[in-house]
Parts: sequence; C-alpha cells; structure tokens
Amino acid sequence: MVGLIGIAVIVLIVIFSIFYGYGLFLKRENIGNLSGSRAKCTICGKTFEKEEMVERAIGIEKLYYFCGECINALHIDYLNKKTNKG
Ligand SMILES: [Zn+2]
Repeated sequence: MVGLIGIAVIVLIVIFSIFYGYGLFLKRENIGNLSGSRAKCTICGKTFEKEEMVERAIGIEKLYYFCGECINALHIDYLNKKTNKG
C-alpha cells in the first residue's frame, strides 16, 4: 500500500509539473501574441493594432501594413491623378 501511495504522489508531482510548465508556456505565448498584435505602418511608421490596418504580402516573406490615414492619403493622391489626367 505504501508503494502505491508513493507512486501516486510521484504521478501527482509529474502531472503538476507538466501543468505548471504548460502554464508558463501559455503565458509566454500570450506575451508573444500581445507584441505581435501591433505593427508599424509601412508609409508613416506609426504603430497601430494589426486589426486596424490593411495587410499586403509582397513576395513570399515580406508583409506590409498600411494604416487608415495613409490609405486615405493614397486614395486622395490617386483621385488627384485621375482628375489631372481626365
Ligand atoms: Zn500610416
């Protein structure tokens, strides 16, 4: 019986350490996600939440982010060009 209790205690310690390690791992992942949820705008260089930005992949690895202000400015530039032409 003592042997069984000893094994049970060891198993509990192992399970506890696995959960503790998993908890630390999750915490680290959350911190990583937090820092990864913000990105710099390619044009103005200001940092915004990625959710508020437009993401464009150029090539295979390069990802560019554009903020609303810059997209607006680009749109206005585009419209100006169009009206100048026509
Ligand atoms: Zn911008």
